[in-house]
Amino acid sequence: MLNMFSLEGKVAIVTGCNTGLGQGMALALAKAGAKVVGVNRTNPVETAELIKEAGGEFLNVMADVSSSETPSRVLDETIITFGRVDVLVNNAGIIRRNDAIDFTEKDWDDVMDVNLKSVFFLSQAFAKQVIKQGSSGSIVNIASMLSYQGGIRVPSYTASKSGILGLTRLLANEWAKDGINVNAIAPGYMATNNTEALRNDESRSAEILGRIPAGRWGEPDDVAGPVVFLSSDASRYVNGYTLAVDGGWLAR
Ligand code: NAP
Repeated sequence: MLNMFSLEGKVAIVTGCNTGLGQGMALALAKAGAKVVGVNRTNPVETAELIKEAGGEFLNVMADVSSSETPSRVLDETIITFGRVDVLVNNAGIIRRNDAIDFTEKDWDDVMDVNLKSVFFLSQAFAKQVIKQGSSGSIVNIASMLSYQGGIRVPSYTASKSGILGLTRLLANEWAKDGINVNAIAPGYMATNNTEALRNDESRSAEILGRIPAGRWGEPDDVAGPVVFLSSDASRYVNGYTLAVDGGWLAR
């Protein structure tokens, strides 16, 4: 039974894995047997060490995901080094906070480019390669509670993550026939750089913690099991779905 969860022989790309959830997921995929390709703008020294210690193989491609040259370069370097690709985890993401009334065009464009546009074009390059290989593939997008809720003071983040939920469904519809499953993970409130400002704000932090049924912020390790499941044969008939990993936040 557990063989269904094995990623032995598979190659997985993870964007933004030098820290946070991306690091946790890259390590989890490696521990499940995948060779991992990181796409980072900051050298992922610690991630490379952790994967090596776990006995895995890791290649880093230094790139900004919002550059239009990145998708073809990532796929080229992956194929040159590992010869194939099976999994894509679109994790890299940024957030900008300001009142909607003062929100700038730059804060809109920067977030949409990284969180939504790059996800579409990297997914497209990945799908072309999987179709060329004649194999099957899994895409796991990283959504958010703000794929379901409005949030406050994060207009471009909410728009991008709500877009991720819809894009996940559309790509699943189009690529299921090609053997590519497209799902998403919607993390709840997780202790990473992304939420540092929130966690440093005492009253917001207490408010959030008080609403999480699990009674704690999530950790990168909490997305390990879900990403391995969605990348493996165990989830082969799961398609177009966004799975909340939120300690019960949405159930409240
Ligand atoms: P994080 O620690 O800030 O990690 C974000 C990652 O994305 C970092 O590796 C970052 O690299 C990378 N990145 C950002 N812009 C990039 C670019 N242009 N090119 C390449 N890499 C880029 O935050 P995190 O919480 O782990 O976030 C991971 C994902 O989970 C994001 O999509 C985020 O929106 C989502 N998420 C997080 C939470 C949460 O509570 N933490 C909740 C819901 C969803 P640098 O280190 O170089 O900036």
